[in-house]
Amino acid sequence: MKKWFAVIGNPISHSLSPTMHETWLKQMNLDASYIPIHVEQDKLEQAVESLKLLGCSGWNVTIPFKEAIIPFLDEIDDSAVEIGAVNTVVKTTDNKYIGYNTDGLGFIESLGPIVPQHNILMIGAGGAARGIVHAFKRLGYTHITIANRTLVNANVLVDELMVGQAVTLEEAENTLEKFDIIIQTTPLGMKSSESALPIQLNRLKEHAIVADIVYNPLVTAFLKEAMKYNVRTINGLGMLVHQGALTFSYWNGVKPDTDGMIQQLIEQLGGSYVNR
Ligand code: NAP
Repeated sequence: MKKWFAVIGNPISHSLSPTMHETWLKQMNLDASYIPIHVEQDKLEQAVESLKLLGCSGWNVTIPFKEAIIPFLDEIDDSAVEIGAVNTVVKTTDNKYIGYNTDGLGFIESLGPIVPQHNILMIGAGGAARGIVHAFKRLGYTHITIANRTLVNANVLVDELMVGQAVTLEEAENTLEKFDIIIQTTPLGMKSSESALPIQLNRLKEHAIVADIVYNPLVTAFLKEAMKYNVRTINGLGMLVHQGALTFSYWNGVKPDTDGMIQQLIEQLGGSYVNR
């Protein structure tokens, strides 16, 4: 039977995953397809049963189902259990459906060469930050500080993942010169005004790397501000593409082209942004 893959979410029409996976499948001459499926909030269990019944070979999971899908799968990979969220489901040869999370590792791959001695500042302590912090820890990076609007949420992340320390946004701003890599993970990135900065960057270290996991707009207010200091900036497209590439390799056993895909999506989003 021809393989087919899907992405489930609500909303789903904005997702770039269908374009990305369809392009890779064609590039690699794989006879398979990938479709977006809009699932009603209260119909997740029925949707998962239908995907299994129809022999879906694997699917992506996006907002708001990354946590809620866990009870409906046959097994969950240890990392996804610790993160508490699944973004990828893989069908095994004995017809079991296993949940994985490729978001955090995807983000780290998008950073390019970094070393465990680097001091990392995460801004935000939500679901995406959780996946990224978990992946850093797994790769042996322990110099991690999590700054969040609600300090208690950063403390929960630190306690549950047993890594790093929690600080307020103000403390992060006042000690910014300590950090080599700064990662903006709040939805503030989606707003363009300067008031959308979670922290000011006056104390930014020379040669720091500044990332924002938001990719629409391609250049967020936070990245625009960082560019004034002539540091390396990275937007969220790399995370999207690298998590997709990891998922693609779980499903098809081969790693697709990531650089070409980032360029294709930049053009699709109407921009000329280059990570530098
Ligand atoms: P989430 O779980 O809702 O977490 C949001 C985080 O942002 C929380 O720490 C929250 O702080 C903080 N926050 C929200 N509004 C804020 C504000 N006005 N000022 C300061 N902090 C604020 O969201 P998520 O799932 O982590 O997603 C975050 C963003 O990442 C979204 O924009 C999403 O689109 C993007 N994302 C991108 C990719 C990619 O592939 N590039 C993947 C996943 C997510 P409190 O604890 O105080 O509420």
